[in-house]
Amino acid sequence: MDFETVIGLEVHAQLLTDTKIFCTCSTKFGGAPNSHACPVCLGMPGVLPVLNKKVVEFAMKMSLATNCVINKSCSFARKNYFYPDLPKGYQISQYAYPLAEHGHVVLDLNGAKKTIGITRIHMEEDAGKLMHDEHNPVSYVDLNRTGVPLIEIVSEPDMRSPEEAADYLKRLHEILVYLEICDGNMEEGSFRCDANVSIRPRGQQEFGTRAELKNMNSFRNVQRALEYEVKRQQYIVENGGTIVQETRLWDDAQGVTNPMRGKEEAHDYRYFPDPDLVPIIVDDAWIESIRRELPELPLVKRERFVQVYQIPAYDAGVLTADKALAGYYEEVVRLCASPKAASNWVMGDVLRFLNEDKRDIRDCPITAAALAEMIRLIEDGTISGKMAKEIVEEMYKTGSAPKAIIAEKGMVQITDEGELLKTIAAIIEANPGQVSDYRGGKDKLFGFFVGQVMKATQGKANPQIVNELLKKMLAG
Ligand code: ADP
Ligand code: MG
Ligand code: ZN
Repeated sequence: MDFETVIGLEVHAQLLTDTKIFCTCSTKFGGAPNSHACPVCLGMPGVLPVLNKKVVEFAMKMSLATNCVINKSCSFARKNYFYPDLPKGYQISQYAYPLAEHGHVVLDLNGAKKTIGITRIHMEEDAGKLMHDEHNPVSYVDLNRTGVPLIEIVSEPDMRSPEEAADYLKRLHEILVYLEICDGNMEEGSFRCDANVSIRPRGQQEFGTRAELKNMNSFRNVQRALEYEVKRQQYIVENGGTIVQETRLWDDAQGVTNPMRGKEEAHDYRYFPDPDLVPIIVDDAWIESIRRELPELPLVKRERFVQVYQIPAYDAGVLTADKALAGYYEEVVRLCASPKAASNWVMGDVLRFLNEDKRDIRDCPITAAALAEMIRLIEDGTISGKMAKEIVEEMYKTGSAPKAIIAEKGMVQITDEGELLKTIAAIIEANPGQVSDYRGGKDKLFGFFVGQVMKATQGKANPQIVNELLKKMLAG
C-alpha cells in the first residue's frame, strides 16, 4: 500500500525572562531544588498571579517573526489536571483566546520552498520536575521550573515527512534564538517538541488517527522517532489492524516508541477562563513597537547573503545558522572585500577549530579583523595559501595577529623574480641529466624542478612565479 505521512508539531519554548510568568522568582536553571519558589508559584491558597509584561512582549516577537496575526484581546485559562508537578491542580495556559494565530514559516529543503502553517502561539506556565528514585519507591519534586514562562507554538498538520518535521523544528529554533527570547537548549528542555503523526492511503482526504510522540531531546531524535512511528503504523494497517489515538514515549536507547497513556481530549481538562487574570489588550502601537525591535530574520539574511555576497546558498545557510557567526562573517567581508574567500575560511578552518573545542564564535580567538588581514595577505601574494593554513592555526592557538606570526616564523613568500631566477639557475646547473631528459620530452620531470625550488627556499617561493620562471628557463 502507498501511504502518505502527516505530521503536526507542538513546540514548547522557555522564554528568557529573568523572572517567572506570574511571580518574581528567578527562572535560572540549576538552582538547589525548590530554591526558586514562592507562595504564588507553589499555588498557596489566596495568592494572586501578576502577569510579567516581558512574557507578552517575547511571545509577540515570536508571533510577528512567524507571520502570525496578534489578537487584539486574549486571555488565560485554567487547564485542570492532578499531578504533583503543579501543586495548584491546574496549569495557567491560553485556550479559547490565544495571543496569536494564522502564521507560517518557510522551509527550504535543498532549494525547494515549502510553507508550514502555524495554527496558534500561546503563553503558559511550565510545570515542575519529578525525580524518581531508582532504588527506593520514592519520588521527589522540584518546583523551580513551576511558573517559568513558555510559549507553545502549534503547527498545522502540514508536514509530509520526518525530514520536513526536523527542518521545520530547526527553522523555529533558529528564529527563537535569533530573537534572543529562548536559549534553545534541547537537552535542558528549553526547547521541547511533541510530534503528532498519522498515515493515510495516498489520495485520501481525511487524516488518519494520530499518535503523539514525546521525550525526544534532539532534532535527530525527533526525526528518528517519527521514522520509527511511521513504520509501526504502516505495519499495523497493512496487517489489518487499526491505529489507536494515544501518547507514546520515545525510547532513545531502544530506538522505539512505547505507549504511555491514552490520549486525553481537551474536554478532559475542563478548561475555564482564569478569574484571577484580566484579559490582555494589545493595541497597534504596541505591536508596531515590538515589530521595530525585530532583528533581520534567518531566511531574509540567507537570501541577502546569496544576493549581496554572491556566495552559494549552502554557504549562506551555514553562515546564517547562528546570528553571531553571520555578524562575524560580515565583518570579515567588510574588511577584506573577498566574500567567497571569507566564507571558505570561516566555514572551513574557523568553524572546524571551534567545533573541535565546542566553542562559540563569540569566544573565537581569531578576531574578524585578524582573519580579514590574513586573507588580504594571501591576496597580495605576501603568503601562500599553504602558509595561511599554518598561520591561521597559530592565530587560533595564540590569538596573535597574522603579521606577528609571519615575522616570527619568517614565513613571507618569496616573490622577487631576481632571487628566484638565481635559485632556479643553480638547480638547473646541478641537475644536467634531468634537464636533458625534460627537454627530451619527459614532461613529468617538471614537478621535480618545482620540488627542488621549494626545497631550496624552504617552501617560501611563490608557486605561480616559480612555475612561470621554470617554464621559461627549462625551455632552454
Ligand atoms: P492536542 O493539543 O490535543 O494535542 P490539537 O488539535 O491542538 O491537539 O493538535 C495538536 C497537533 O496535532 C497540531 O500540531 C496538529 O497539526 C496535529 N495534528 C492534528 N491531527 C493530526 C493528524 N491526524 N495527524 C498528524 N498530526 C495531527
Ligand atoms: Mg498535544
Ligand atoms: Zn514564585
